[in-house]
Amino acid sequence: MLQYRAVKGTKDIFPDEISSWKHVEGVIHRVAGLYGFQEIRTPVFEYTELFQRSIGTTTDIVGKEMFTFKPEPDGRSVTLRPEMTAGVMRACLQGNLLALSPIHKLYYIAELFRKERPQAGRQRQFSQFGAEMLGASSPEAVAETIGMMMHVFTALGVTGLRLRINTLGDFEDRARYKKTLREYLEPYASLFDEQLRERMDKNPLRILDSKSPDIQAVIADAPKLRDFLSPPTLGEFDQVLLYLDQKAITYTIDPLLVRGLDYYCHTAFEVVSPELGAQDAIGGGGRYDGLARQLGSKSDVPAVGFAVGMERLLITMEKQGLLEHIEPEGPQVYVVLQDRELKSYAVDVCDSLRRSGIRSEMDLGGRSIKAQMREANKVGAAYALFVGRNEVESRTYGLKDLKTAEQECFSLQEIVSRIGKDVVTRSARE
Ligand code: AMP
Repeated sequence: MLQYRAVKGTKDIFPDEISSWKHVEGVIHRVAGLYGFQEIRTPVFEYTELFQRSIGTTTDIVGKEMFTFKPEPDGRSVTLRPEMTAGVMRACLQGNLLALSPIHKLYYIAELFRKERPQAGRQRQFSQFGAEMLGASSPEAVAETIGMMMHVFTALGVTGLRLRINTLGDFEDRARYKKTLREYLEPYASLFDEQLRERMDKNPLRILDSKSPDIQAVIADAPKLRDFLSPPTLGEFDQVLLYLDQKAITYTIDPLLVRGLDYYCHTAFEVVSPELGAQDAIGGGGRYDGLARQLGSKSDVPAVGFAVGMERLLITMEKQGLLEHIEPEGPQVYVVLQDRELKSYAVDVCDSLRRSGIRSEMDLGGRSIKAQMREANKVGAAYALFVGRNEVESRTYGLKDLKTAEQECFSLQEIVSRIGKDVVTRSARE
């Protein structure tokens, strides 16, 4: 048994999986670009108060899932980021981005850390891709943000995802509703376990999320949030839905969808994947107009965003057979050495191909010609290029197409322009 293993809840991503990750990341960058979202990268840790203030101390994330370090000598502790929205908003306020342009559309692919109990689809270090639209949260802005997320899924070929959507109203609507809901739930408190009782005290909306059949039965007759919402809120929500219809995005209105974090208001949404079992949420998001002020901004900054779990996205893609065709990028040329004496010559050939932009490799282990050919095929090389006495004298090299087994002799320059052209036609096709 190895003495050192990865920490529970963390995972290594090996080279054979990297091509899938890069494929997904490539699609995210491309689609984000189509919608005018720009990438942002923020520090992996922030002052703990940032998360306490934004996500809310009553949430599971802040209550028990944060990796927090002992306070610095100045008394301030720092925490590994458990989500990105707070850090992105902090960065934008600190960098005064909104003074430069009133609307900022940002996206990220980032590692996050939560001290959760590890299980399938739930890790302690995981990645999310997400977007934050700051400065706008009109129905068009909400629909565009959701549209970008759904476009990524479609571009990746993912099918069967379900978008659930709801409106949570503004903070006053919700405060009135929470009070009524708490009063309604009070007589049933004996049915609740400790966690639910805690939720009832701190954030009764979270009880609506409960999957227990007993609690669901209680909730079925509970007062409805919708009845506490003002006509303008409901009107705006209808407009969001109309824009989604216009974009041919299908959704289910789910009055029980509340999302866990304190900063959400009005539209909230979640996407679930049929492939994921118990942890079936693949992503979610919503509007968070009050967050900027909570973080010290003098004015409200309308905002809407989402985050999608990369690991769960990849699990879904794997189950749908969408990763099979993604192959790691092998070398274009494998230089096969036919005579050991010519090793340094082969090193030169390999290097000059690389300088000309051709991905090239050669044997580094003194293997036989047969073993070198096996390796060339194994690493997925497109061509084998032979270096032997005749080649060195004539300065032309046998080039074997490893798919068709055709072989011809060419000068190095001819090889570069031939394979270079291959690359150009291939990328034009893609
Ligand atoms: P949240 O920020 O909690 O709304 O999560 C957004 C998405 O991130 C979820 O739908 C999951 O896909 C993913 N996610 C959240 N927590 C974890 C975790 N511990 N491990 C893996 N993925 C996660």
